[in-house]
Amino acid sequence: MRRSLRETPWMRILVVEDEVALADFVAKALHADGYAVSTCHDGPAGEAAALTGDYALVILDVLLPGRDGLEVLRTIRAHDSELPVILLTARAAIEQKVEGLDLGATDYMTKPFSLEELSARVRAHLRAPGQREASALEAGDIRVDLRTRRVERNGHEVRLTAREFDLLVYLMRHPEQVLSREQILNAVWGFDFDPRTKVLEVFIGYLRRKLEQAAGGDDPIETVRNVGYRLRAQRA
Ligand code: CA
Repeated sequence: MRRSLRETPWMRILVVEDEVALADFVAKALHADGYAVSTCHDGPAGEAAALTGDYALVILDVLLPGRDGLEVLRTIRAHDSELPVILLTARAAIEQKVEGLDLGATDYMTKPFSLEELSARVRAHLRAPGQREASALEAGDIRVDLRTRRVERNGHEVRLTAREFDLLVYLMRHPEQVLSREQILNAVWGFDFDPRTKVLEVFIGYLRRKLEQAAGGDDPIETVRNVGYRLRAQRA
């Protein structure tokens, strides 16, 4: 299976976000996707970094101390019309989105957002023109069609809810890799989950039951004690 991320392993991404914890979550997730990531926590520093020409993509919060994200975007566009910029906007701020797009933002994400979605948008904007993302994922006897959202195991259809689907896709994008609970929660549920939540265990349970019922196969999801989970990609 071809994975577009592997082809662009050292692209540099700049994250400009004054909520340090959020900036770190985003940076960690993008780093796990194989990008080199730098963070800045205010407008002036972000603007200076964005203008260095060192970055393939900028993730830019709108509300920043020192200099507003839209001002930073305006300056970026005055120097560089091509650099992909994804704005992070507040939920209700429609005017920010419209103004941002008018100023030349490539895309925007409304907070709170899931890191899995941000990572998908980053991939989409970094893809060279004409290059298409793989439309299917395979791990062992499990196959996911990303366009139709159809999941099969050994040729049998597995019916999943939207969240179960997102969880499976995240595991399948990182086959054989031990993923921490925090990593999975960040990617699938977004950054504002409660760390004591049992939601991940519950959904892993649903997913296991459905995957096992579908084909009567082994449990493909391994529990890694005190850490998290790993999806086995080899056929038994
Ligand atoms: Ca902010």
